[in-house]
Amino acid sequence: MADREGFLKKRAAEGLLRVLKPVSWRNNGRIRVNNKEYIDFSSNDYLGLSNHPKLIEQAKQAVDKFGTAGAASRLMSGDLELHHQLEERIAGLKNREAALFFNSGYQANIGIISSLYGKGDCIFLDRLSHASIIDGAILSGARAARFAHNDTGHLELLLKKERNKFKNVLIVTESIFSMDGDKAPLRQLIQLKEKYNCEMFVDEAHATGIFGGNGSGLAEEEDKEGRIDFLMGTFSKALGGFGAYLAASRKDVEYLINTCRSFIYSTSLPAPVIAGNLAGIEVIKDEPFRRERLLGEAEYFRRNLKNRGFQVNGESQIIPVIIGENFNAQRFADELQKKGYWVLPIRPPTVPSGQARLRFSLTFYHTREILAKLIDDFSNIRI
Ligand SMILES: *Cc1c(COP(=O)(O)O)cnc(C)c1O
Repeated sequence: MADREGFLKKRAAEGLLRVLKPVSWRNNGRIRVNNKEYIDFSSNDYLGLSNHPKLIEQAKQAVDKFGTAGAASRLMSGDLELHHQLEERIAGLKNREAALFFNSGYQANIGIISSLYGKGDCIFLDRLSHASIIDGAILSGARAARFAHNDTGHLELLLKKERNKFKNVLIVTESIFSMDGDKAPLRQLIQLKEKYNCEMFVDEAHATGIFGGNGSGLAEEEDKEGRIDFLMGTFSKALGGFGAYLAASRKDVEYLINTCRSFIYSTSLPAPVIAGNLAGIEVIKDEPFRRERLLGEAEYFRRNLKNRGFQVNGESQIIPVIIGENFNAQRFADELQKKGYWVLPIRPPTVPSGQARLRFSLTFYHTREILAKLIDDFSNIRI
């Protein structure tokens, strides 16, 4: 039998044991854990939409009308008009022909990638791609090759060597990387995709609602939506809801409705979730000040931490501060938690070895006053 106890002991000795921490209350960017209140710097509720009256109202109306269950998969009786409204809105926001809703980002990525690609194909992934992208590539049965993070030179080297050995080739990246908060070089990646006759998939989980004039994502900001075959993103982060979308051509969406197992074989999400997502899309359009203020505060936070000597990465609302050693990252996190900040260390294997970090996820709830005090408190920690 597998030595599970030995595995857990080893994890603990390395400072890598994962444990759950139940939250008893959450409101406006604050949480309560073990009877202590914290300012939450680990949530993806970037724009504070989870507490927005419009989302709450529309979700309540839907629960009154449809009840609490999705009741069936989309291809049985779980397909609501609300889904179609949401898909139309997403296609419009992303400037694509069509869109398809998925029950989560994880389900979207494993399902889409493994349906579209298979044996005899090749998938090139950024080395820092989210686990759901990697799992989708593995599940597809295609050859998967990773290129160095944001390194288009390395990708081109691989394409030169490998492109002709495969029928269909997909290049995958996130637009804003979840653990590093940096941006993918979309323009150069698209040039390579076109030069080497590949398709491209971009995961906008952390960019949707935040970047672009309409809040559509980084592809919009860089005017690249029409040149990316598959634009995926989630409702679970800035949009204050749950589920995910793919915006693509009508033909590709129809193909997925017929083949994508994580879409076909899963019960539809409850109506209040879909209605809340729809309201989230409206708020993104109506309240651009949320994303503008968030990115402004993120810039302030990064600049001031750098001035105090911290190694700060990122170009977004996700702000990693690199500490290095696992136990030191844990100690910094412990000290910050004592002061009422819910900040967690991110350690290998989620990030490369030797690059343990604290990941600050900024949200609309973090005012200048909160951030200024955090910068002081953080700088004064001695470990
Ligand atoms: C969060 C995330 C996902 C998964 O989305 P869920 O809706 O939480 O399942 C996928 N890709 C990236 C880059 C993410 O950050």
